[in-house]
Amino acid sequence: MVRFTVLASGSKGNSTVVTGGKTRILVDAGLSCRELFKRMKAADEDPATLDAIIITHEHSDHVSGLAVTARKLGIPVYFTHATHRAWVRWISPRRQMTYAQWIEQCRQQAAARMAEADAQTVEDCDPEEPDSTIDDLAANASEPGPSDAAPKKRKPAAEKDPTALPSVQYFEAGKPIQIGDISVSPFTIPHDAADPVGFVFHAEGVRMAFATDLGYIPPNVKAQLKSVDLLYIESNHDLEMLRDGPYPWSVKQRVLSRVGHLSNDACSTYLETEYDGQATYVVLGHLSESNNMPELARITAERALNGRASLLANRLLLAQQHEPLATICF
Ligand SMILES: [Zn+2]
Ligand SMILES: [Zn+2]
Repeated sequence: MVRFTVLASGSKGNSTVVTGGKTRILVDAGLSCRELFKRMKAADEDPATLDAIIITHEHSDHVSGLAVTARKLGIPVYFTHATHRAWVRWISPRRQMTYAQWIEQCRQQAAARMAEADAQTVEDCDPEEPDSTIDDLAANASEPGPSDAAPKKRKPAAEKDPTALPSVQYFEAGKPIQIGDISVSPFTIPHDAADPVGFVFHAEGVRMAFATDLGYIPPNVKAQLKSVDLLYIESNHDLEMLRDGPYPWSVKQRVLSRVGHLSNDACSTYLETEYDGQATYVVLGHLSESNNMPELARITAERALNGRASLLANRLLLAQQHEPLATICF
């Protein structure tokens, strides 16, 4: 069976489970491992059955739980080369600190070494575990294995590497790859990241397009969104709410730019004028909590779809930030 479960969508975290045949892929890991597992269980998806994680781009709302989740599950992570490099840079920032902060860090490291001598254990990523931090990432580095693996001793500080992953696989936009039973076609999207991509997932004759985090819809993306059974597309902001809203001017400019995010109007213009109407489901995603309202996004898209009689059969759904969307099955 083919399934599509949006676990979270928006600027506070993005993650989706795509299932086809016997294969399950997590698309982005923008929530803590703890929260991802909690939402998967709520959506009746078993984290232990995930086969791979694939990443659209390195912004924190798409990767914040990546390292811990991949290590807990011991599964490969698929990136483009540039996105992997950017993620490594992001997760291992050059630390600049005052002398007082340096002294404090030395004191804490000494305390940690003492604690290691007492052979502390690492707890499993269950719903009771507190949110992971960069330090947790470091502590758990080099620790692949299933989520129910037995507790292990912490690695010595010298071996900690927050960028360690069980396995890294590279792909390129424009070159389809096969992950188990799912074929994945990555395509370039216009967004202010190192090498951002959208995807078309294809399994059991079902095509699902994934296009969020894009400033506009260029011809190469329009070509990818044709003849799909599910269209997951960004409807990020209402233009007036963004202009009048709380963001600083520079951030507003970034969101509005050709490498920012797709507005309700831009999304609906696409749905009205160029969308081929083939999808059984249209899912609006990455809605801004500050500069949009779900009903505004829905009404704008509905107007666009209802203006075309042949599209009345489309089911329009809204992905949410704080809870999973009911699983879509084919
Ligand atoms: Zn982004
Ligand atoms: Zn994003």
